[in-house]
Amino acid sequence: MSTPATPSSDTQPDEHETALETARRQLHQAAAHIDIDPDIVERLEHPKNVHEVTVPIERDDGSVEVFTGYRAQHDSVRGPFKGGLRYHPEVTRDECVGLGMWMTWKCAVMDLPFGGAKGGIAVNPKALSDAEKERLTRRFAEELRDIIGPNRDIPAPDMGTDPQTMSWLMDAYSMQEGETTPGVVTGKPPIVGGSEGRNEAPGRSVAIITREAIDYYDLDIHETSVAIQGYGSVGANAARLLDDWGANVVAVSDVNGGIYDTNGLDTHAIPSHHEEPEGVRGHDAPRTVSNDELLTLDVDVLIPAAIGNVLTQSNADAVSADLIVEGANGPTTSAADTILTDRSIPVIPDILANAGGVTVSYFEWLQDINRRSWSLERVNEELETEMLAAWADVRDEVAAHDVSWRTAAYIVALSRVADAHETRGLWP
Ligand code: NAD
Repeated sequence: MSTPATPSSDTQPDEHETALETARRQLHQAAAHIDIDPDIVERLEHPKNVHEVTVPIERDDGSVEVFTGYRAQHDSVRGPFKGGLRYHPEVTRDECVGLGMWMTWKCAVMDLPFGGAKGGIAVNPKALSDAEKERLTRRFAEELRDIIGPNRDIPAPDMGTDPQTMSWLMDAYSMQEGETTPGVVTGKPPIVGGSEGRNEAPGRSVAIITREAIDYYDLDIHETSVAIQGYGSVGANAARLLDDWGANVVAVSDVNGGIYDTNGLDTHAIPSHHEEPEGVRGHDAPRTVSNDELLTLDVDVLIPAAIGNVLTQSNADAVSADLIVEGANGPTTSAADTILTDRSIPVIPDILANAGGVTVSYFEWLQDINRRSWSLERVNEELETEMLAAWADVRDEVAAHDVSWRTAAYIVALSRVADAHETRGLWP
């Protein structure tokens, strides 16, 4: 199995670069391969807007606490801004800008009519009661009200936020606007306009892209061994689908470590994070492995689907898999990416593989706008169609430019965004 060489980049990746630095470096790396106006690249280095807001709430003990919230809107040339809102103590302006830029590429590689954004509040959500979280979310919705909306900017859940958070946000926005507006956020429960299949979608898209990559590299799925780190929404759904399609899922893990059976695990019998948090190790298996060991197991396919930055300069040389599919966001550091490319181990990037989440968010937005819900079968069929189209676009770019899968995905995305800018022109 081989993958084309990575293009030479003007800057060498640094193991400790920030999300914004990585996003900008990847932008330039992709731009080097296409005929693009440098002025457009310069515009794309910067967000269109970054909103910083103060979010005061009354704590349960009657005191008032003030938090800082952000919404970085990167680019909207192809449609309304789209991206998550996270509640995490380390949320910063620059992180939101970098992650917002990634959302621009993720939506563009899927050819969705959305731009990219990211936001959040610098807060530890575990230190808040449910009532405090609700007050925080409603006040944040009010602070963002002028800049969000179904045709402006559509937030979604991210770290520390969930479907309930989105319901509060939707309710607060709707009450102030005087009309029920489900299309202002995605990732809601179906009862208030959420989509069937939304929770499973990122894992499903990881499974679809893995299946296509297995086929591309002339492997037989029935003889393909797979190791998956993380057994949550992404990891467990991907594992079960690949298992159903005939792959041999030999190792899975959660934060406490993993289990390993060369004969294959019964993925449906292992509880996912949502069914029984951290229950993987409770399942009977011939061997246990640490999370570090899992990443270097001798398998055909490795799917890191837990957290970011797990494949690094220190372990990339020890990876034994023939193919890596990124289930998590940013599991491969830039330095590891270079090492893996030098070792001819293809890495199918997150912006393609786990884009099922934002794709079904797009379906949710369509359903909200049309006031008509789709069946689970329809959602899954349309997701399959969108994933296959995006896979084919990126695959063609790999062949046309002799580049890595990551660079190819960025080329597809950047070409679309740049063409839209070129066509619309600069106002005024
Ligand atoms: P989740 O909370 O449902 O599950 C996370 C899993 O990873 C759990 O099994 C947990 O035990 C495990 N885990 C946590 N820390 C770990 C560690 N240090 N080492 C090994 N395992 C660890 O999360 P999720 O929604 O499946 O998200 C996983 C990744 O996928 C994240 O990077 C997320 O940003 C990304 N992602 C999620 C979605 C989505 O909509 N759920 C969409 C796209 C990308």
